Amino acid sequence: AARAGIVVTGTEVLSGIISDRNGPWLSERLREIGVDAAHIVVVGDRPEDLLAALRFLAGEGVDLIVTSGGLGPTADDLTAEIVARFQGRELELDGPLFDRIAAILRPLMTRWPDLDPKAVLRSNRKQALVPRGATVLEPVGTAPGLVVPPSPEGATGAEGPTVLVLPGPPRELQPMWRAAQETDAFRAAIAGATRFEWRIMRLFGIPESEIAESLLAAERDGLDLAPLEITTCLRRGEIEIATRYEAAAEPFYSRFAAFVRERHGDLLFSEDGSTIDAQVATLLDGPQTRTIATAESCTGGLLAARLTDRAGSSAYVRGGLVVYSNAAKVALAGVSEETLERVGAVSREVAEQLADGAIARLGSDVGVGITGVAGPGGGTPEKPVGLVWVSVALADGRRMTRRLNLPGDRADVRDRTTTVAMHMIRR
Ligand code: ATP
Ligand code: MG
Repeated sequence: AARAGIVVTGTEVLSGIISDRNGPWLSERLREIGVDAAHIVVVGDRPEDLLAALRFLAGEGVDLIVTSGGLGPTADDLTAEIVARFQGRELELDGPLFDRIAAILRPLMTRWPDLDPKAVLRSNRKQALVPRGATVLEPVGTAPGLVVPPSPEGATGAEGPTVLVLPGPPRELQPMWRAAQETDAFRAAIAGATRFEWRIMRLFGIPESEIAESLLAAERDGLDLAPLEITTCLRRGEIEIATRYEAAAEPFYSRFAAFVRERHGDLLFSEDGSTIDAQVATLLDGPQTRTIATAESCTGGLLAARLTDRAGSSAYVRGGLVVYSNAAKVALAGVSEETLERVGAVSREVAEQLADGAIARLGSDVGVGITGVAGPGGGTPEKPVGLVWVSVALADGRRMTRRLNLPGDRADVRDRTTTVAMHMIRR
């Protein structure tokens, strides 16, 4: 199988000011096409560090290197130049590319009259400099991407890796990655890759240790898992079992999937790669739309944010109330003062009244009420940190209410709560 290395450039990423979205994204895309990402290297905007990273990866024998960032017009954007040097290729001005970038820049010039025309021309010229023999990927912003094959003059000679050079902004990098797939130079670089099938099963309400136990049990039952590459991970309170295998191993996967289905039954909520968020959207946005509204205390609107994260959610999300104080619970969601005094805000009754209040105040078919102790302070022996009540009610009076004891810090408790609520909505 082909192997690849990823170099993420940018001092803002290296220093933690922004978190890297390109490395993991590229790694997943590579895996989909049967290429193993062997390393993700993050370097700042120092040219020597980028060159060292390229040398290191070439030394590891990768077939392909993908770089992200450093293609902009400014002086600290040096990726194209460094990659050209690494592959032993001179930079030359690509005339048609120069014209296309000029066409992108011209409207900017009229919109911002303060721009210095000379500086714009310089940056235009810089971005149209291309290593000789490279394939140019059309810019989505102003920076073109590049597929740069090795050459005998390069640091690692003609047998070295091909370098795919992509811009840093994810909204530019992602479409250009797709465009790169269509180029002969890219295809040649990963010619040795095996196509893999790639399946994801998702379970909810089960500890990771139990999955590990199930894998052992499967083998005890005589199931041959050797042709399957199985990875399990815990993500936002759900277990994900990702399995990769060569097409010929399909029967092994079928038997494994049947085993998981039989052993874990309804805890297995997805076999087709769909997430709980997608499933909730499908349910609410079905042939008969069901509208939803929330009244949230300890999650402060995170559930409403999660529900509205999807394009098109305006078809079924009515709205959400953030009712953090008791006064707000009373005024906005119609929770009874008497109940608050008698059993406190973190209670079954208040969660249920919040769900009912969301339905009544926002006129939805489904209402969700959430109240709990997210921590780190505020816990008591009777109501410890991590205690959360979630209630999902329907306008016809049916409801489901659950008491949760969630582990983790404040962020974990709040996030897990939204996951549990999503699964309760789906029920
Ligand atoms: P530009 O023309 O925008 O300068 P560039 O290819 O030079 O493009 P960078 O300068 O490295 O890219 O990054 C530009 C911006 O893109 C960053 O400030 C950041 O907002 C975003 N970005 C870059 N790399 C990443 C990354 N790995 N993950 C998430 N966002 C990124
Ligand atoms: Mg830049």
